[in-house]
This record gives sequence, structure tokens and C-alpha cells, in this order.
Amino acid sequence: MGGEPQRHRKGRGDPLTEVVVIGGGIAGASAAAHLAPHAPVTLLEMERSLAYHTTGRSAALFVANYGGEGSRPLAHASLPFLEQPPEGSTDVPLLSDRGALWVAAADQLGHLEEVAAEGERSGAGSSLVDRDEALRLVPKLSPRHVEAGLYEPSARDIDVAALHQAFVRIARSHGAQIHLSSPVTGINRLNQGWRVSTPDDQIDCRFVVNASGAWGDLVASMAGIEPLGLLPMRRTAFMVPGDQAYSGWPMVVDVDHRFYFRPDGVQLLCSLAEEIPDEPGDVGPEMEDVALAIERINQATTLDIRTVSSQWTGLRTFAPDRDLVIGEEPTAPGFFWLVGQGGTGIMTSPAYGTLLANQVLGDSLPPGLAEAGVDPKTTDPARFR
Ligand SMILES: Cc1cc2nc3c(=O)[nH]c(=O)nc-3n(C[C@H](O)[C@H](O)[C@H](O)COP(=O)(O)OP(=O)(O)OC[C@H]3O[C@@H](n4cnc5c(N)ncnc54)[C@H](O)[C@@H]3O)c2cc1C
Repeated sequence: MGGEPQRHRKGRGDPLTEVVVIGGGIAGASAAAHLAPHAPVTLLEMERSLAYHTTGRSAALFVANYGGEGSRPLAHASLPFLEQPPEGSTDVPLLSDRGALWVAAADQLGHLEEVAAEGERSGAGSSLVDRDEALRLVPKLSPRHVEAGLYEPSARDIDVAALHQAFVRIARSHGAQIHLSSPVTGINRLNQGWRVSTPDDQIDCRFVVNASGAWGDLVASMAGIEPLGLLPMRRTAFMVPGDQAYSGWPMVVDVDHRFYFRPDGVQLLCSLAEEIPDEPGDVGPEMEDVALAIERINQATTLDIRTVSSQWTGLRTFAPDRDLVIGEEPTAPGFFWLVGQGGTGIMTSPAYGTLLANQVLGDSLPPGLAEAGVDPKTTDPARFR
């Protein structure tokens, strides 16, 4: 299909839309919040509510010593927004103190040193601690299992619902249109833009932002764009009964990512930290993953977990090199990727929204991102072409 972008309206689409954002998770919401002050934006979400998929299923942590080369500076650059959200965007703090403690058994000490070195490089402010200090921080760790730890006091809990809502508030306050129950079913190139179709609508726009998470390659293929090879990986989290006395503990992570747990109110949020390839969809927990996580946590602690209060599964979606993909598709001008956030898509969201918006608007890299060491080449989709 060809032709100029036009005010084409079959249903309720916004005829003045300049940018269509596909996906209403944290990525799409951040993109909309950062674009809406500068251009008319319509966000399309296929579900009846926003943040229904991976965004609503995370462990909600900010950990500086985590993620790929591209995501670490983005996490760093996100701190100013997370610590001081824009006026009126939220009624509650987005961050609260937590800390993270990587723990190692005797045969894992080599890897603990490696993680400590990575923490040093990313300025995470972490320090190695001996068994006594690890047990002082988390008295329910088993002295028979834990030999040493790496403590990162700067790790924080993120209020994910409030952060997502902050982006939505900012976007709406600048006139962004957000349409629920609007699955994108077609994307066709016009002479100077794109026609995005849903069952009820056709919206012509200049730019498309693909923030559809695990569905990223499927959405791109609607526009005739070659897939990146995105890999959605299942990860289950579950809650077990805890105790008020645990509420000040840091998050505990096995240094080889064989399990983690952290206090959440009076419960403990636990996970096997597994990565199991899956298809885009509404995934659910596998009992074996929960059972294995409980077994490993019980080995490493004296918690003696026996019951599970609730459980859920989300898809952490990775690009082939496990780094984010942010920017214009080289083979399709006007089509922007914002995918591959893997396990860091919440804590990096303010900065990747800024970067994406700057790229769509053709602006230069903002000083805040440059100072944090963000290099757009690391996350450029052109690296796969
Ligand atoms: C167990 C677990 C723990 C995690 N812990 C952390 C953590 O501690 N810290 C952290 O930073 N990150 C964490 N993450 C990762 C983080 O949750 C993700 O990186 C992030 O949520 C990805 O956001 P997204 O918007 O890309 O994806 P999603 O939230 O999945 O949003 C994509 C949206 O696109 C929509 N969509 C798809 N196709 C279409 C279509 N055709 N038309 C319209 N809409 C469409 C979907 O319905 C969906 O709402 C964790 C993830 C899991 C599963």
C-alpha cells in the first residue's frame, strides 16, 4: 500500500497522530511519556488493561550491578527520574531502600569475585562480606551453605505500578491517546509514514514505535521487517509467608542465579531465576520450577519454606546479544524498536524512553545520558543488520 500519510479515519483513531506506540507495558508507557510533550502520540495496547504482561510480573528491583553493557548506563541515567519524579506524576516515592546480597557457597567463590569486579566497573558501590556479615544481614542464611557474599546497599525496590502510572499520567497530560483492547493487526508503509490497523481503526502516522515486548518480532513482521531473533524467556516468581522481622533484609541472590528471594511486606518474593525459552503469550507457572526454587532456598537458608501463597510467570525477552534494542530500523525509516529489555526493563525505563524519544525526534543525545555513559551504538538495531 502506498500514498501520503493522511487523516484517514475508519474508527476512533486520532487523525492527528504523529507517532503510534505499540504496547502498553513499561516500555510503551515510557516512550509515550517522553514523546507526548513534543508530538501527538497514540498508544495501542491489545489487552483490556495496561501492564498486563511482563511489566506487571517483575521482581521490581533496581540493581546497578546487573544486566548487559547497554543497560547498565541506562539504569544509572534513570536514577534522577526515579529519585525525583517530575512534579505531579506520582503521589508516592518510586524507590525505597532494599540492598542486595549475592551469596556464594565455597565452590562459588571464584564467580563471586567476578561479580564483585563487574560491580566495581559499574560503580554499584558493592563490597565483599564474609560469612558472619552475610548472616548478620540475613540471619536465616545457613552457615553451612553460605561462605561469603557481595553486598550492594544501593539496590532499591521500585514501585512498578506507580512508575508505570507516572509515565501514563505524563503522556495523558500532554494529550496522548491511549487505546486498550486494540491489537495491532497490520502495519503498512505509506510514501512518508505508516498505516497502523486494528480491528476497529486505521491510523496514519509518521513514526511507529514497536514496544510490544515478547511480540516484538511478530509486530515487526507485520511491517515486512525481518525479525531480530528476539527470545522470550519464562521466569516464575512466587510468594511465601514471611515475617515482619524479615522486612529489613536485602534481596538475596545466589551468585550463579540459581535462586533469589526478597521481603515483600510480610511475605517473601522468591524465584528460581530460571530462563526457559517460550513463545509470546500469557504464560503461567510450572510446578517443577517453583518446587526446585523452594528446594534450593531451603538448602541455603533455615527458612524451611513449605507453602506458596501466590505465583506468576512473565517473559523476559532478550535480543540475540542480550542487550536492549533502541532505535530506527535501518531497512524501514520511521519504524523504531524499543525491545529486548530482558531482566532490566523496569529500572532502565526512564532513560530508554528519553533515548528513544530523542531518536524519533532527531535530537542529539541529552547531556544526562551522555554523562551516564549511554552509547546509542550499543543498543542500535543496526548491529543486527
Ligand atoms: C519474574 C520477573 C522478574 C523481573 N524483575 C525485574 C526487576 O527486578 N527489575 C527490572 O528492571 N526488570 C525486571 N524484569 C523485567 C521487566 O519486567 C521487563 O523488562 C519489562 O517489563 C518489559 O516491559 P515491556 O513493556 O517491554 O513488555 P510488556 O510489559 O510485556 O509489554 C508489552 C505490551 O505489548 C502488548 N502487545 C503485544 N503485541 C501487541 C499488538 N499486536 N498490539 C497491541 N499491543 C501489543 C502486550 O499486550 C504488552 O502489554 C522482570 C521480569 C520477570 C518476568
